[in-house]
Parts: sequence; structure tokens; C-alpha cells
Amino acid sequence: MTLQVSKNVTAVGKVDAPIFDAQAFRLNDEQAAIITRARELGQAVFAGRAAAFDRDATFPTENYRDLHRAGLLGISIPKKHGGLGAGYQTYALAAAEIGRYCGATALTWNMHVCSTLWTGALADDLDMDTEMRAEHERRRAVHYKRIVDEGAIYSQPFSEGGAAAAGGVAFGTEAKPVNGGWIVTGKKIFASLAGHADYYGVLCTETMEGEKASRRNTLYLAIPAKTEGVSVVGDWDPLGMRGTVSRTLLFKDVFVPEDAALMPRGVYFQAAQRWPHMFLTLSPTYMGLAQAAYDFTVRYLRGEMPGTPPVKRRMYPTKQIAVAQMQIKLEQIKAIWFQAVTEACANPSKEQVLRAYAAQYSVMEGANELAALAIRTCGGQSMLKSLPLERIYRDSRCGSLMLPWTAELCLDRIGREALYEPGETDE
Ligand SMILES: Cc1cc2nc3c(=O)[nH]c(=O)nc-3n(C[C@H](O)[C@H](O)[C@H](O)COP(=O)(O)OP(=O)(O)OC[C@H]3O[C@@H](n4cnc5c(N)ncnc54)[C@H](O)[C@@H]3O)c2cc1C
Repeated sequence: MTLQVSKNVTAVGKVDAPIFDAQAFRLNDEQAAIITRARELGQAVFAGRAAAFDRDATFPTENYRDLHRAGLLGISIPKKHGGLGAGYQTYALAAAEIGRYCGATALTWNMHVCSTLWTGALADDLDMDTEMRAEHERRRAVHYKRIVDEGAIYSQPFSEGGAAAAGGVAFGTEAKPVNGGWIVTGKKIFASLAGHADYYGVLCTETMEGEKASRRNTLYLAIPAKTEGVSVVGDWDPLGMRGTVSRTLLFKDVFVPEDAALMPRGVYFQAAQRWPHMFLTLSPTYMGLAQAAYDFTVRYLRGEMPGTPPVKRRMYPTKQIAVAQMQIKLEQIKAIWFQAVTEACANPSKEQVLRAYAAQYSVMEGANELAALAIRTCGGQSMLKSLPLERIYRDSRCGSLMLPWTAELCLDRIGREALYEPGETDE
């Protein structure tokens, strides 16, 4: 299942170099091949379609067909289940390459891939007894087969508009245990892929008779989009990431069978405690957008941007200084982010967790800073809607809003966790 992509013909004329050169960043051949596949698909196909999905705020369904054909819907599905078996770092680097060409595709692809990464490599690192592990293995095989064979698309509705998505309290979406499964009721806001995913990977709280709702009882359930009681409401006309179609999802007395559990009881809570880099996976999209803003600027100032007259602007010292500042910023973002996605693991040290927050903050804020600098440096004609820069600017503005690691919450956590050891108070 591979997609043939021409090496020569692309939306911008010439084939881009990878964001992270395989040799310089010590990636092996298998990793480099997967990341190249993503980059070529992004540049040759997705880049040309991105403007229309953005303009119309429509979901990039065609891109998902291509991702399936290229084997990339199963990028992080273990090889024994028919996937490419990519670990966290390889996935992150591939997703950055997609984000470089279409932010909305990369961001929604992340929701999909997390349903395989969290249940795959990440769950393999967590504690489960033998029986639980066997049950998980049986269930995830069904879920992987749907993706590999049928191209099924999964989303990840998490946010509810209250404190739950920030990790403060239990999810308000409830799963009441009944014979053979649960009855799910609740509401998810900003549910990317709403109306377009085949399965919604819903985070909800299993309610226990007479007990207070607890984050420990979080369930991660794959609910088929066509199930009775599931509906998509509201419109979607945002500033950026318009192709994500992140509308509101309602669940009203939805019966969900036990086999729909993407993780056994207690395992999502364990993951959130022991594998915090699971929340860093929204950042690759924005790493790609940061690179895209820089690429645009260099091409534009050299007079090589397709769709613009071949006017060179690179000879002005102010432009050269701006590009130097952008390059320094980009390398800073790349360095911290590469380190964070490379060291992602179970039970990271305090230093690694602080670095993950710092990486998320640097990428999410940095991508938009680079896009703003790109517009200032290239000038008025560069922000016309016929060119991708203004979309990169709008899309990149959305990065630091992503819960649970918004830019504000990253600052909050870094400050607190740097100054206090667990359990310490000033009393
Ligand atoms: C394009 C796009 C796609 C998205 N896709 C998805 C998706 O697929 N699935 C999904 O689940 N969500 C998704 N989200 C939602 C996202 O993660 C946020 O939940 C969403 O932006 C809601 O933010 P809010 O401003 O309503 O949050 P609010 O809860 O109102 O918070 C506002 C801000 O206050 C701060 N804040 C919040 N809680 C705390 C706290 N306890 N302490 C201190 N500060 C706090 C944060 O910085 C936050 O940004 C998407 C968002 C966007 C923009």
C-alpha cells in the first residue's frame, strides 16, 4: 500500500528538504523512509488542496483517502497488526512534515494517530495484569484492522468547555455501566473531525453508584459515528484550522458495548500520570507550520514563490537580518522540540517533563511569532489569500489554545513544578 508521488512535480516547483535531516538528526533508514513518505505526500498533494479546505471550512476527506493508500493512517499501528510500527518520535517528525503543507490535515491526523499510539506503543509501557493485557490485545486488534483494511478514521473528542480538559476534574461526559457495556451521555466541544470520523474516541467518566466522579475512572471509548443518540451540532467558522471541522458532539443515552473500550479500566488515568508526553502530540503540526513560515520567507525574498512575480527582495539588509532572526528562532524551536519528542517515555524525570512543557510552549508560540515576522518581512503582497502565508499565520495562532497544555498552562506548570517538589506547601 504505497502512494506514488512524483519526485519532481510539486505545488512549489522543487522538492523540499526534510525539516530534520536524517543524517544530522541520526534517524535510521526506516524512520527516514516513513518521514519522506509523509513529506512527499504533503508537498505534492496536500499543499495544493489546503487553500480550498481552509476557504470553505471543509474536512480534507480526500487527504485521508491518500493517507490510507500511503499506509499512513496506520503509521503507529504495530507491524504485526499491519501498520508501519512508527514510534512516538517517528510519528512526530512525519506529522511535522504534513503540518508544513496543511495544518488542518496534520492536526486532525494527530487525533486519529493518537488512537493508535496511545493504545499501542504507549499502552505497552503501562502496567496491566496478564488477563487485562490479553483483553486489550484482542480489542485493539479489531480497532487496528478497521483502520488498516477499511481506512476507518478516528477522532479524539476530549474538550468539554469546563476544567476537565485541563486535567483538573473528571470528564463531565458520563458512562453509566449497564449489562454488556455503558450508556454514554454528554457533550464535547471543539471535536475535530465531527461528522467526518468513523469512530469518536471519547474520553468519559465511568460513574459508580454512590461514588463521586473521579479522574481515576476515565474511560476511552470508540463510539461509531452512526450510533443512535450521537449527533453533531453547531456551526464552524473559526479564524484558523478551518479544515478541522471541530463542531460540537452530543451523546444522548448512547449504548456502547464493552469491546469499544480502547483502553482497559484505569489505564488512561495511568497513562496521563506516567506518560505525560502523550499531551505533546498536538505540537508536531505547529513545528511544521513554523518551518512553513520560514520556507515561505526565503522563497519569497529570493523571488521564487510560485504565483508571484520573480521580484527579488533579498538584497536589503533589514530583510537579511529578519531572516537571520527567523532562522535562529526556528533552530531553537527545532532543537528543544526534537529533544522532547526523542526522549518521550514512561516515567520521565522532572527535568524531562519541564522540557516537554517548554517544548510545547516554544513551538506553539514560536510558530505564530515566525508567521508574524514572515508577513512583516515579506510585506503586503505576501498576505494575499492567493498565497499560503496568511493561512499559516491564522492556523499557527490556534496552537497555544490546545488543552491540556495551552501556552498559559505550560507557564503555570513550569513555574509551579520548578519551585515546588511534590507535596510541598508554604504552610
Ligand atoms: C482548531 C482547534 C481544534 C481542536 N480540536 C480538538 C479536538 O479534536 N478534541 C478536543 O478535545 N479538543 C479540541 N480542541 C479544543 C482545545 O483543546 C480547547 O479545549 C479549546 O480551545 C477550548 O478552549 P477554551 O478557551 O474554551 O477553554 P477554557 O477552559 O475556557 O480556557 C481558556 C484558557 O484558560 C486557561 N485555563 C483553562 N483551564 C485552566 C486552569 N485550570 N488553570 C489555569 N488556566 C486555565 C487556558 O490557557 C485556556 O486556554 C481544538 C481547538 C481548536 C482551536
